[in-house]
Amino acid sequence: MPALPIITGASSPILRTKTKRVPKITKEIIGLIADMAETMVAAKGAGLAAPQVNRTERICIAMIGKKLTPLINPTITWKSEAIEMAEEGCLSLPEIWLQIPRSIEIIVTFANIDGKKIELKLEHFDARVVQHEVDHLDGKLIVDYAQSKVVGHHEKPL
Ligand SMILES: [Zn+2]
Repeated sequence: MPALPIITGASSPILRTKTKRVPKITKEIIGLIADMAETMVAAKGAGLAAPQVNRTERICIAMIGKKLTPLINPTITWKSEAIEMAEEGCLSLPEIWLQIPRSIEIIVTFANIDGKKIELKLEHFDARVVQHEVDHLDGKLIVDYAQSKVVGHHEKPL
């Protein structure tokens, strides 16, 4: 299970591609998720989405409750109106840290690697990571939020 190269650059076409739902969780999909997990850990990130490793499947992984969680075909079905700001980095945008507004709470549905449908209500950091990764699956990056640049941050990029 090799760590994969991470695609960087806000104008990289794959990072701007809307991903496609995964019709079936095959061995190949499970292998991709394992490679993504290795890649994220090696890069010291807290989340990673398929386009960041040059793939078009609607798959991401995220640290949720400090547990590495694969999300297949995730959909955010509800977002709180209440927003909070925090600094975010992105493994695909090295050295850039931005203040990004995110809903404090969300509900996300997805399939786990066994194909079981899961619904989670998340808040604060967990909700933020998943919103960041689902943005990736829709071709959206943190630089698309109009905010000023922040320097000297030490949290894990997503
Ligand atoms: Zn990112």
